Amino acid sequence: MKINEIILATGNKHKVSEIKDILSDLNVNIKPMIEFDNYPKVVEDGLTLEENATKKAVEVAKFFNSWAVADDTGLEVEYLNGAPGVFAARYAGEGCTYEDNNKKLLKALENADNRKAKFRCVIALSDPNGNNVILSKGEISGIISEKISGTQGFGYDPIFFVEEYKQTFAELKDGIKNKISHRALALQNFKKNIANLIG
Ligand code: IMP
Repeated sequence: MKINEIILATGNKHKVSEIKDILSDLNVNIKPMIEFDNYPKVVEDGLTLEENATKKAVEVAKFFNSWAVADDTGLEVEYLNGAPGVFAARYAGEGCTYEDNNKKLLKALENADNRKAKFRCVIALSDPNGNNVILSKGEISGIISEKISGTQGFGYDPIFFVEEYKQTFAELKDGIKNKISHRALALQNFKKNIANLIG
């Protein structure tokens, strides 16, 4: 069964724009679910990125009876033994903003002697029945900066410092984030993993 169209199973506009950009050279029609009047609101209650990505892709695939792709991302901070990890979205509590999360993380690292961190991204592709899922992964190491810096991107981007570029993700220009990020690397693996399913 060849893939002509994939529903993008995320409610996050920033992820939609990054994923569409990174997959722009794929010969498949990518349709964000948020452009439909109706789409499922999937509860992300898994304990791993793999579980959450799979759950989102499968529920959305079944809803639309279409191939669906989902992204689940975590931020693992060494000094915090891997926290916030899979719980990164609600690190500062239910209904918190990106800024709340960034401030809470900077506070937690106030006296830290190690600021190393890693973004991990899992991309799940489900077939239209929700019976088969292909997982693709990517990660990038960085440093949690000492202050919020930059206006591009979203989430933890203003405090995730990439040593090679001496900038936070939120300071990087010219589409660089979409070439080097955890999401870019996971989607590059995704393209390899599904090459035989593309017409
Ligand atoms: P989720 O994958 O939507 O569950 O994201 C988990 C948390 O990580 C949320 O707070 C997101 O805003 C944040 N996040 C996900 N991807 C990125 C990214 O590429 N940069 C910065 N923060 C991100």
